[in-house]
Amino acid sequence: MSIPFIQIGCTECDFRGDTLTTFGCYLWQHEGNVFQFERQLGLCLDCNKVVAVEQLPSSETMEQARAIRRTYNGKPLLRFLEKDDARYLASQTHFEILEAVCELRRLPVCLECGNSAIRQIELPRQIYSDTKVSLGLKHPWCEGTLEAQSSGGLRMGLTPITYTYDIYGHLLSTVNE
Ligand SMILES: [Zn+2]
Ligand SMILES: [Zn+2]
Repeated sequence: MSIPFIQIGCTECDFRGDTLTTFGCYLWQHEGNVFQFERQLGLCLDCNKVVAVEQLPSSETMEQARAIRRTYNGKPLLRFLEKDDARYLASQTHFEILEAVCELRRLPVCLECGNSAIRQIELPRQIYSDTKVSLGLKHPWCEGTLEAQSSGGLRMGLTPITYTYDIYGHLLSTVNE
């Protein structure tokens, strides 16, 4: 599998990261079942790295998903086809695992170290390969600001990888296929 990616750097130091870090399938395992959850790009203050961080649905989205779920009897919807977060979540099997995570009322964690000292990275809509675009996010411990640049034609070959966590966001296993 070959995918284009975005490189992230700092205006002042040699800090480097990229969006390939969020590649893979992320699962919560609970009572013998799994639920595929969503992750986003973040900066972990403990790892001092660009990492994948958990993306937890808002309480409004969860309310809507519960309401849809009462009458939903179709197949699980595919993420890249379904734009409505609540409808997508409501259609997934083992929705009760997502409920169990939400009941913990915990903060999203870094999917590498399990701590919640994270900053969300919002990627701009337009990213170019010849110019760097500011992410408007300060790099802690230095005076710099993080910026992004597209890898352009450069694509990275990756092996599918599955990460499994408990409902607290602690890594249980990593499987390379
Ligand atoms: Zn820096
Ligand atoms: Zn971390």
